[in-house]
Amino acid sequence: MSSTLDRPAGNASRLTGVGPEEQLGETSPRDVLDIPHASDAPKSHSEAHVNTAARSTITGIGVSHGLAHAVVVHMPSPIAEPAAGVRLGPREDHATQAARIPVAVRQVTADLERAAAQSSGDTADVLAATATIAADPTLVADAERRVNEEHLVPERAVWEAADEVVAQFVALGGHFAERAADIHDIRNRIIAALTNRPAPGVPDHPEPFILVAQDLAPSTTAGLDPARVLGIVTDGAGPTSHTAIVANAKGIPAVVAANGATALLTAGSFALVNGSTGIVVLSPTDSEVATAKSLSELIRTFDGVGQTKDGHRVQLLANIADPDEAPLAAESGAEGVGLFRSEFAFLGKEQPPTIAEQVVEYRKVFHAFSGRKVVIRTLDSGADKPLPFLTSGEEENPALGVRGLRTAKEWPELLEEQLTAIAHAAAAEDADVWVMAPMVSTVPETEDFVAACQRHGLNQAGVMIEVPSAALLAGPILARASFASIGTNDLTQYAMAADRLLGSLADLSDPWQPAVLQLISTTCKGGAQQSRPVGVCGEAASHTALATVLVGLGVSSLSMTPRALPDVAAALASVTYEQCREMAMLALTAETAVDARASVRARLPHLAEMGL
Ligand code: PEP
Ligand code: MG
Repeated sequence: MSSTLDRPAGNASRLTGVGPEEQLGETSPRDVLDIPHASDAPKSHSEAHVNTAARSTITGIGVSHGLAHAVVVHMPSPIAEPAAGVRLGPREDHATQAARIPVAVRQVTADLERAAAQSSGDTADVLAATATIAADPTLVADAERRVNEEHLVPERAVWEAADEVVAQFVALGGHFAERAADIHDIRNRIIAALTNRPAPGVPDHPEPFILVAQDLAPSTTAGLDPARVLGIVTDGAGPTSHTAIVANAKGIPAVVAANGATALLTAGSFALVNGSTGIVVLSPTDSEVATAKSLSELIRTFDGVGQTKDGHRVQLLANIADPDEAPLAAESGAEGVGLFRSEFAFLGKEQPPTIAEQVVEYRKVFHAFSGRKVVIRTLDSGADKPLPFLTSGEEENPALGVRGLRTAKEWPELLEEQLTAIAHAAAAEDADVWVMAPMVSTVPETEDFVAACQRHGLNQAGVMIEVPSAALLAGPILARASFASIGTNDLTQYAMAADRLLGSLADLSDPWQPAVLQLISTTCKGGAQQSRPVGVCGEAASHTALATVLVGLGVSSLSMTPRALPDVAAALASVTYEQCREMAMLALTAETAVDARASVRARLPHLAEMGL
């Protein structure tokens, strides 16, 4: 084990490693750390509780492991559209009201310039550019006119003036149209200044902090700077929401579905966030903080070989979204990539990327994993990953709509182009490239996809098992496909009929649910029948105790955010294959998720002692 303590300025600290109980100081480790690992902690939403008696704690679901101690900062509520039709009274001083607008704009511009000066790189450039746009007099002049002539309240006048600017920019198209989001951002900042509210977006706090929010938009989480945001606590958000996934990938300790967090964790107080157990301690004692910090002295590393104590091999692979993450993932010891979420190349674009653009992105990953296996997933759009050029706004139930591989039926040319790009990129590099389709539901869909891959010379063609029908049909599906990878995030969502984005359904959105485990077991049996490998690439793969269950069920590879690899490797190395099978049987025969987790945990108490 090597040692890492990421200790930013002031009192704040992120504690990135955990170690054995023997290392602890006087505080009981159970107070701080050793209740079950990450999403292995008690998951029932009703179990999330606020205890304000002896020691203020909130229990939610730990979705991104690690410890952080810092000041609490709240995410401001989003700016809502000011009511139309609210006008200034005839006796109000319209000129004075209008004059508040340039004052607010000057404040916004100055704030942005200051933030730009305190930042560096791309962030500084974006902030400086936004400040320049904010300083443009057109929007101010139009908003002032609307106050003076149409008697609108200033915030409504700003809203309408910004709409006008956006409409003009969109009509101009191209580079101008892309600025629409910046205008909306500036509009919201001006309205916040006019109404004495904090500026929208992630607060600009001088010290690193714990961000507390009702929920975070995935785009907000994606933009978080781990050097500033040391921990995340949300009242809502589900354990397999993209917010949770992104926090995990960025290495920001996070607790979601922490019922009451926004009320109890007051801004300016200090909190200790345990992203492993899901416990958040408000105003922790010095001894608790010291204990947590001492645990950070030990951090595990992964030697690149995943196996049980008695040598049963389990491939431990990395999940990747942004191709620029690939070199770091390759250094983590991952034996390959088990899930390359290729939609990254498509997100935020007005049009699908060209074949040439895709080749550039895919080659980055294949190059970083030269000589190793890379499983690239074809475009998974729709529902929680909407794409403007593909996703229809008319579906009433997008999660059950045209998403994943289903988009290829409507837009076959997109799949063709993507397979062409993958084949070109694979030919140019030395990775062992496997391709899989998301959201496969039937045998004919499998046949069509495998045939399409083969036409492009891509012979390792597999499917993701995310829909219960595919799990139940794993035998015939794997008679056609070369491999299967179980997407437990979606499989849980569809098996339990529980929206993965909803924190209020966290007790259902739990891969420990015996019904989900039975579907995984059925998939593994189908794989064994056809001698095809079955892996797991959902968040469940990164949960230590659950990993032993998955291996016991017959899963041969686990793919996860790279930073989870050392802990999962350590958990597997601590048990025999026979024990994994025993854990699988225990979990599979439990009647509830809580019982499944508890009985496995009770049989493997050493995991908690190892801080896993
Ligand atoms: C899954 O559903 O488990 C999965 C890995 O895919 P995503 O989270 O990208 O939907
Ligand atoms: Mg999925």
